[in-house]
Amino acid sequence: MRTPIIAGNWKMNTTISEARTLVNDIKKELDAIDNLEKIICPPYISLSPVLEIIRGTSIKLGAQNLYFEEKGAFTGEISPLMLAGVCEYVIIGHYERRQYFQETGDIISKKVIAAIKHNIKPILCVGENSKDYENRKTREIVTRQIESSLTGVEDAGTLTVAYEPVWAIGTGRAATGNQANETIAMIRSVISQKYGAKIAEDMRMLYGGSVTAGNIAEFVSQPDIDGALVGGASLKAKEFIGIVKLTSSTRILK
Ligand code: PEP
Repeated sequence: MRTPIIAGNWKMNTTISEARTLVNDIKKELDAIDNLEKIICPPYISLSPVLEIIRGTSIKLGAQNLYFEEKGAFTGEISPLMLAGVCEYVIIGHYERRQYFQETGDIISKKVIAAIKHNIKPILCVGENSKDYENRKTREIVTRQIESSLTGVEDAGTLTVAYEPVWAIGTGRAATGNQANETIAMIRSVISQKYGAKIAEDMRMLYGGSVTAGNIAEFVSQPDIDGALVGGASLKAKEFIGIVKLTSSTRILK
């Protein structure tokens, strides 16, 4: 059975002091839940301060991005060498990186390879935009994104995939559990063809897009959905704790 994941992507929110307050507000209740992985992904500048606070708990740390080179003249970038030992996870290929920072499949696959090389587990994001969704191209687009993002990735054993339809990110218009499960099951079959049935069966696959405490159960009760990547709701302590608790109780029933 796959261990579920709830990952909070704080995006470009929280000052260092706000990040400390938020993690202090969720720490105790999250730590007490032990049948899933709880990951928080603060901005780079807050990684170390947050790490100090969660040290010794079961909460894990993720980065929101990395650069694929190890060091050198890449002003403003953060390398896997710098993140190794700080973060266990890293989000790669988030829609906002693809959209605002021109990240292509080629760049994303290099980042996935670099993360794996440095023992940082990638959470690879894929998802179709609203036009492609309306034109019923989800399957084609998502398959293409998976294939290009994993070009040259030989060992996918530590990979997690997050299916995040662009039209659902930050819009309050979440997919339905059935819709998300259908696409995630399709992703699992693409992974199976590429890496074999065992890797595909063991790989955690998340849904992301306007997840709240009010709708999380609909997703995590689905057979192929192993948790969620949560944006906006991860900035509200009570809401995020609710999402984690509901995932935990739904897993017991699943
Ligand atoms: C995200 O940014 O990964 C995300 C899913 O955002 P939100 O939950 O706010 O839709």
